[in-house]
Amino acid sequence: MCMAMRMSEVPLKLFNSLTRSLETFEPVHAGEARVYSCGPTVYNYPHIGNMRAYVFADILGRTLSWKGYALKHVINITDVGHLTDDADDGEDKLEKMAAEKAQDIWQIAKHYTEAYWDDIKALNIREPAHWSVATDYIEEMLDFAKSIADKHCYECETGLYFDTTTIDDYGRLARAVTEDGEGRIDTVEGKRNAADFAIWRKTPAGEKRQMEWDSPWGKGAPGWHLECSVMGEKLLGFPFDIHTGGIDHREIHHPNEIAQNQAFCGCGGLSEATNSGARFWMHNNFLVERSGKMSKSSGEFLRLQLLLDKGYHPLAYRMMCLQAHYRSELEFSWDGLNAALTRLKRVVMAVERLADAVASDPSHQKFAPMLEKFDAALADDLNTPIALTALEEALAVKKVDANVKRAVIEKMDAVLGLNLFGLSRTDLRIRPTAAQMSEAEIADAMERRKAARAEKDFGTSDAIRDDLAAKGVELMDGDPLGWDWKLA
Ligand code: AMP
Ligand code: ZN
Repeated sequence: MCMAMRMSEVPLKLFNSLTRSLETFEPVHAGEARVYSCGPTVYNYPHIGNMRAYVFADILGRTLSWKGYALKHVINITDVGHLTDDADDGEDKLEKMAAEKAQDIWQIAKHYTEAYWDDIKALNIREPAHWSVATDYIEEMLDFAKSIADKHCYECETGLYFDTTTIDDYGRLARAVTEDGEGRIDTVEGKRNAADFAIWRKTPAGEKRQMEWDSPWGKGAPGWHLECSVMGEKLLGFPFDIHTGGIDHREIHHPNEIAQNQAFCGCGGLSEATNSGARFWMHNNFLVERSGKMSKSSGEFLRLQLLLDKGYHPLAYRMMCLQAHYRSELEFSWDGLNAALTRLKRVVMAVERLADAVASDPSHQKFAPMLEKFDAALADDLNTPIALTALEEALAVKKVDANVKRAVIEKMDAVLGLNLFGLSRTDLRIRPTAAQMSEAEIADAMERRKAARAEKDFGTSDAIRDDLAAKGVELMDGDPLGWDWKLA
């Protein structure tokens, strides 16, 4: 029996790092949600920890859409200005990589931007309204810097620096930062306070950078923090709703962005969150891996491509991310990935039974508790682990019209983004790229083996099995999940 949906809409609560508390989301512009996510620095491939940051931003965006807001999402591409040390020291990451590889810096940026987009697509992360590329905004960065330079900056030999004592509440987001900017770089000649940071970095006399522009402070390049302030302001307007990034950004990058934003907006203190440029500052916790494979300097680091090469479907990694709350640390292990894959496969097998159904009205009393649970979980600071259980409970509902069930699952998957109706269980087979047999050859051998067994010709059937094993294909007769084979 169908009835009007009784789902009670729970107000969306999100954890604001600025106040360290859960706050109810109220949009700045009625009906809209404007979100800026710090994007990749395209000097190297992203690792899967970096990609966790975008899965989180994607779930946030999809939840805002679920709640009925028109989403305007920006992710930036940092192709200049990010130094090897976030706290204002070292070399520009892209200049360094270009020099090491003796390659054109623009080619480096293009190559790694495209590699990042491949991962975005593979993880079914929705495209933002804007991919804003830092080097496209140099003029705007110069205008922003000029507008705050007199009151808040000073020039020294290496660049134009922001004086962090000129605004109230510097470092409130980080909390750990002491007044003298503990842990910051104070070795730069002429810096007034350890926490001060460059908003424009001059090219040293006698040197030429591949990326440099004229400015009132000499030839040089923008500081990394300046980029995000400017692109956020230009594309979303201050204050916008939510700024996201990984938890490392809570310590240096975002406090510095906030300081610039305060200066730009007239210096209000942070007891009024909007003076920071955004109402909410949200941070995902890290993906960690105990043996050090997350470090890009470790040689073979954990790229999504490594998971694909080992035969895992990329959405198994998305499932792994969703099984943890975004504010919890998540430990990567191959066992953990296997468990996520098995869970995804169970879900996909249940969804395959709905393949012939046509989604109809999802309102049905049998599904109301799951939809309510799903909504309440998301509204509770994006609790995807609970939302996943609501999805599984909905799939387990018996004696119900398949069309209604399909509509419910489609609705939930629009938030979880597991592409459940686009996947089949065979897509999820573990299939390393170095495998020696094609899918068609395996299917053919399995057909021949099935025919031999039907005729009780076990000699032939065993020979086929052995031949498959020699080529790395392991048959899985009687597997509870119905996997016919996997590549061993
Ligand atoms: P980057 O390209 O280094 O600027 O990093 C891109 C995004 O990944 C930023 O939001 C970082 O905070 C985030 N990030 C870096 N390492 C990890 C990690 N291990 N787990 C989760 N997020 C990370
Ligand atoms: Zn940023």
